[in-house]
Amino acid sequence: MTQFTENNGALFVDNLSVAELAKAYGTPLYIYSQTAITQAFNEFKNALGDFPSLICYAVKANSNLSILKVLADLGSGFDIVSLGELERVLKAGGDPAKIVFSGVGKSVQEMKRALEVGVACFNVESEAELERLSDVAVGEGKTAKISLRVNPDVDAKTHPYISTGLKENKFGIEFNRAIDVYLKAKALPGIEIVGIDCHIGSQLTQATPFLDATDRILVLVEQLKNHGIVLKHIDLGGGLGVTYKDETPPAVADYLSPILAKLKDLKVSLMLEPGRAIVANAGILVTKVEYLKPTTEKNFAIVDAAMNDNIRPSLYQAWQEIRPVQSSNATPDIWDIVGPVCETGDFLAKGRTLAIAAGDYLAMFGAGAYCFSMSSNYNSRPRACELLVDGDTSRVIRQRESFDDLIRGELVGNA
Ligand SMILES: *Cc1c(COP(=O)(O)O)cnc(C)c1O
Repeated sequence: MTQFTENNGALFVDNLSVAELAKAYGTPLYIYSQTAITQAFNEFKNALGDFPSLICYAVKANSNLSILKVLADLGSGFDIVSLGELERVLKAGGDPAKIVFSGVGKSVQEMKRALEVGVACFNVESEAELERLSDVAVGEGKTAKISLRVNPDVDAKTHPYISTGLKENKFGIEFNRAIDVYLKAKALPGIEIVGIDCHIGSQLTQATPFLDATDRILVLVEQLKNHGIVLKHIDLGGGLGVTYKDETPPAVADYLSPILAKLKDLKVSLMLEPGRAIVANAGILVTKVEYLKPTTEKNFAIVDAAMNDNIRPSLYQAWQEIRPVQSSNATPDIWDIVGPVCETGDFLAKGRTLAIAAGDYLAMFGAGAYCFSMSSNYNSRPRACELLVDGDTSRVIRQRESFDDLIRGELVGNA
């Protein structure tokens, strides 16, 4: 169920008017619904039922401390890919024993800190990383719990930039090398093997690639047993898609039930690393129309949000719905929604039929995942304010950046 509803042509988040929030806090403005996040998390939890499992929310989708806190309070674990994400989870009250550490480039410093706080598992992505991790663990007098991230070589049928489980991708250990690398891991002094992991891509809209990947992983689980390596968990990564436009991803329960059926006799627990499916449709980006600029070729609506606030349209050709926050009597026309940044690639949407005028607020939907977390200060634009709405109340969970924030750490010289 959506928490974004229309009442007499006005958009609401939970019980609050988006136009009122935009007036009070300014634009560009990210607004998230705590109820929507909770509902999405509980969909996973309910689908898993009493199957031994851990949901590790992928922090990179949206790493705001308050959102991490909401998820930690719901009992979520976390999938992290950097030291910064680790510290965020700890600061938000996340349990280190529910953290899995993914990523192809873990540094010595990151490994040390993760060992110190006691993360549940390192998802190791290469033999070189495995050797380094063993050395670091021995040096710290610790043992690193690991799973190997195996590349199952299945086609996730998603955008090439977010497909990760093909042979030619940089992620994971080659399927045909996996057993040898496990045998090597078994012999290393600083390593304890606890699981196996894969993550084949993001925004998957079909169940089949997940099932194919599961089958490939289960082949390895059997072979490992024959080598005396018994795994405690299988981590099938994240990747479940959401509806931005007309995509029809499987419901969480429909994607998970055939997977659970495959695992039920194996005495392993299941870990998942959903990001987008938890937060994407829990957020909107609100922006104001600064100018309408009709030209002979095209009509441009120049808004105060830009590619630095949401890079998905320019980076992935992503389509996100845009609607006026308050419907108006303006004549509908076809608009490209573009920002103030000095790049032709700076657009939020192209060719949208909208009835808009200068000064109107627009809402960009599906903005809870991979939007704010990928934002930047390009063109010296301060990053937006973030709000979390819960029923009748809203609170600022990130202040709009100031000029001082923009230049923090920079030196003019001769100081
Ligand atoms: C990005 C990522 C995820 C989350 O993917 P979603 O598509 O947002 O669910 C999970 N695991 C790993 C290793 C990732 O890199």
